[in-house]
Amino acid sequence: MNWLKNNVNASRRGFLGGALGSVAGAAALGTMWADETIEAYQGNVRTASKPTDLKITDLRFAHIVGAPMSCPIIRIDTNQGLYGYGEVRDGASVTYALILKNRLLGENPCNVDRIFRKIKQFGFSARQAGGVCGVEMALWDLAGKAYNVPAYQLLGGKFRDKIRIYVDTTESHDPKVFGDRLKHRIEQGFTWLKMDLGYDLVEGTPGTVSHPVDVTSKTTARTQHFFTGVELSDKGIAMMSDYVAAVREIVGMDVPLSADHFGHMGVNSCIRLGKALEKHNLAWLEDMVPWQFPDQLKEIKDAVNIPLATGEDIFLKEPFIDLCRRNTIDIIHPDLASSGGLLETKKIGDAAMELGHAMAMHFAGTPVSFMANVHCAAATENFLALEYHSDEIPWWQDIVTGPDKPLINKGFAAIPERPGLGIELNPDVVKQHLAPGTGYFEPTEQWNNERSWDRLYS
Ligand SMILES: [Mg+2]
Repeated sequence: MNWLKNNVNASRRGFLGGALGSVAGAAALGTMWADETIEAYQGNVRTASKPTDLKITDLRFAHIVGAPMSCPIIRIDTNQGLYGYGEVRDGASVTYALILKNRLLGENPCNVDRIFRKIKQFGFSARQAGGVCGVEMALWDLAGKAYNVPAYQLLGGKFRDKIRIYVDTTESHDPKVFGDRLKHRIEQGFTWLKMDLGYDLVEGTPGTVSHPVDVTSKTTARTQHFFTGVELSDKGIAMMSDYVAAVREIVGMDVPLSADHFGHMGVNSCIRLGKALEKHNLAWLEDMVPWQFPDQLKEIKDAVNIPLATGEDIFLKEPFIDLCRRNTIDIIHPDLASSGGLLETKKIGDAAMELGHAMAMHFAGTPVSFMANVHCAAATENFLALEYHSDEIPWWQDIVTGPDKPLINKGFAAIPERPGLGIELNPDVVKQHLAPGTGYFEPTEQWNNERSWDRLYS
């Protein structure tokens, strides 16, 4: 309700004079703004002031850490007291959003696509897209509040009434321990599971991995797969397959089980491992090699009869469409905070669907970005399941108010019916988890005059 109350306050200052005043009679203005009255009007009239005159006046941030990731939340303010929340992708610098501030000031936030096209040149793969996508989320929040409709409705309506969540689970090299953890997820109500299946599982056993003596799974984080010299032996592959067999023994074969984080190794090892895993009927193999190498991805896809997925670091629809058109992968896996925000991700899903590919969604942020994902997932037909990383963070869902709690109930998220993203921030909780040395939506005037000649052609 805060955004509405602010709006009402704005009306007292004259922004709303005509629209709402004519409904109730100007003479009653002094007494009509009791909370019950506000509630009543919210259901019956467009409570926002004048969307066509809405203008962006500010962009500020509150940088949350430990959620479990580091996630800057941004707030875009307007001349009518309305504001919208977005989130820069987990792990990304808030600078990616702040450099956009000058490009946003004075714009009408309801022109979401127009602004997106203006700023998308400042996005790139993975975290570098975080600013553009965070702003796009905040624009939908604002547009929804301005017209008093939930974001999914602005995207074209919904295909489902609740969003399937797939949950990450803490690893253990003991398949019994890990299998029991996954079984607990099923008991919690989750209907889709994912496991990390890296070769670090077996590299401590002699004869499992061939590698240069100073190269291990821990030293190759910044070396792309093909350039590590790492290859799995038959023994290593058999041990990894046995691990999955033991896990499947505990959770059964019925629940979809995806796998990720195999470690950086050559394409041939990926293929040999993939073939060994076929009998475990996995839901997808994720990012076996980097998304920038479509020919190598296709080599794996063509050789292994398990769906292949990629996409969490891809920015904009074009690379996704190219991957789908070439049948390089089976399942696209965008992270909305990197792929371009709600509308671009819906476009990605729709294009993939036309080419015969389903869409799972990567996510590792706070409930702000989570709700952006929920609205997009609701409005995109070929959606499978949305990732969730924060089941062990007790205060995660307390960051926001508005939707019913728990936000994830028996493996599904409800779709908010409130305007915009449907959430408010809980300042007390946010302030307890700010990045050291940062404040709560403090002024950012130093970014008001960031300028360059932004045209991409001459
Ligand atoms: Mg992944």
